[in-house]
Amino acid sequence: MWIPPNHPRRESLLIRERLVEGFKRGLVVPEGLIAHGRGECFDYLIGESTQPFALKAIEAAVAALLLAKHPVISVNGNTAALVPREVVELAREVNAKIEVNLFHRTREREEAIAKWLREHGADEVLGVGEDASATIPELFSERRRVSPRGILVADVVLVPLEDGDRTEALRKMGKIVIAIDLNPLSRTARAATITIVDNIVRAVPLMVAKAREMKKCSRSSLEEILRNYDNNQVLQEALRHILNRLKELSESKLTLS
Ligand code: ATP
Repeated sequence: MWIPPNHPRRESLLIRERLVEGFKRGLVVPEGLIAHGRGECFDYLIGESTQPFALKAIEAAVAALLLAKHPVISVNGNTAALVPREVVELAREVNAKIEVNLFHRTREREEAIAKWLREHGADEVLGVGEDASATIPELFSERRRVSPRGILVADVVLVPLEDGDRTEALRKMGKIVIAIDLNPLSRTARAATITIVDNIVRAVPLMVAKAREMKKCSRSSLEEILRNYDNNQVLQEALRHILNRLKELSESKLTLS
């Protein structure tokens, strides 16, 4: 689809096109398209730009990934469609494993996502077929399958666009869970250890840049960043930002002339 360069919603439409493309490739499920719509709504409210509360969370998230013994990046269909190269780059920078972890799991989709990630530079992709032989306690159906070399033994898991149940289950297993979720009120956002309230297309490239910079930091300074991080405060800041923005907008002229 051709989108005029001066179209006011160009960026957002291009992101949609990537998801539609991902859907046609068998990476994304129809439910993923709906989930994206919910995210877009919150992005509209946030102002479609990375805010200070997200930058704070990104810094803490990168510190946690760099300090981790077994960091894992969990990839679902939307993540694979939107930021495949950036996920591979981030995994490389923080020495993390990449694992396919799907809500709507089928062998074909697992393989399509793994192939897509390999085409974007991934050496190894866990969680495909028999490799997803371990289970997360307290979860039922196919959603609980994970790799015994990946999420099962991970101490830090990055779960962009995850669902609340799985986030809570991973927390109960004692893991540090980093979520990327535009909705500061979702159960995922509230259950995660660190929540990056930002669009995945902006957040992951920023994480890559931050990882390159922070790799030079001492362990004690990374530990201090984590100690000082307060996720509840970050979620409150995200809501306050939306509140202030809506207040300003509600007092301004809205009609287009
Ligand atoms: P929960 O179980 O956590 O309450 P949910 O049922 O509201 O989640 P899901 O459909 O499981 O939501 O997942 C979609 C989530 O991902 C939404 O919270 C949405 O805001 C978020 N999301 C969708 N697209 C993006 C994106 N591009 N960047 C960041 N977050 C996104």
